[in-house]
Amino acid sequence: MNYYDQHLHTFLSFDSEERFENYLVQQPATFVATDHFDLKNPAHAFQDDIPDYEELLRQQQKFISQPTTFLKGIEIGVVPGQESKIYDYLATYPYDLQLVSIHQNGQFDYMDDIVLTKDKYTIMDEYFQQMERVTEDFKAGHILTHFEYGLRRLDVTSHEVATRYEEQLTRIFKNIIAKNWGLELNAKSFAKYQNAQLYEYAVPLYQNLGGKLFTLGSDAHIASDFRNQFSQMGAMLKKFGVTELALFQNKEIKLVPIPES
Ligand SMILES: [Zn+2]
Ligand SMILES: [Zn+2]
Repeated sequence: MNYYDQHLHTFLSFDSEERFENYLVQQPATFVATDHFDLKNPAHAFQDDIPDYEELLRQQQKFISQPTTFLKGIEIGVVPGQESKIYDYLATYPYDLQLVSIHQNGQFDYMDDIVLTKDKYTIMDEYFQQMERVTEDFKAGHILTHFEYGLRRLDVTSHEVATRYEEQLTRIFKNIIAKNWGLELNAKSFAKYQNAQLYEYAVPLYQNLGGKLFTLGSDAHIASDFRNQFSQMGAMLKKFGVTELALFQNKEIKLVPIPES
C-alpha cells in the first residue's frame, strides 16, 4: 500500500466548495476526505458545522465504479466541554479516520484577526493549554493536526517556542504517543504560513520522546492542492532519519514508505 493524503476538504466543509470528482480525476488508490466538524464555530457565525454523513455516503456510492477505495474521514475541532456531544456524534456516525484539531476556544478562532489585538504569549499560552488538555482527555481521534495552527497569525520563532513551551510540548507529545495518535506535517503550515521551522524544531522533540507515527496532510480545500508539499515535507522527515509514514484506518495503523513525491 502506498501513502495517501490524510487531510483534505470538500464541499462537505463550511470553507470548501470542492467536488469529489475533481480530486478523483487522478484516480487515487485510496481517497479519504476529512471534512470539518466544529461545534459553535466562531469562523462560521457560531454555527455547528457538522459534515453531512448521508451526503458523504452518496458521494462514495456515486464513484463506486472507480478503482478507488473510499474511507470516511473527519477533522474534529475540539473545545473542552464539547466532548460528550462529539462522542455522541461519532457513536452514530462512524469514521475510519479522525483528525483532532485545535481551531478555536469557544470565543474566537485562533486564525481570527482578533488574535492580532492581543498579547501573543497570552494567545499561545491559551492555545497550548487547550492542546494539552485535549491530548490528555479526548477519547477519540487518530492524528494531531497542524500543531502550530494557533501560532499562524503571530510572529514567533522556534527559539521562542522552545524557550517558553518545550516542557508543555513534551507533555503534549507524550500524550499523543501514549494514545498512538500520529503527528501531522501540514502543507498549509509549510507553504502558506511558512512555519516549516516550527516543524524542524518539533519533529526531533517528538522523536526523542519515542514518537514514530508521522503523517502528511495537504489540508487541501481545492483539488489542485491535493498532496501539496508532500516532497518537501517528506524530505524534512528523511533528514531526521524517518523512513515510514503512518496510515490510520479505524484501530489499525499501517506503516508505509515515504513517497518520492
Ligand atoms: Zn484544521
Ligand atoms: Zn483541515
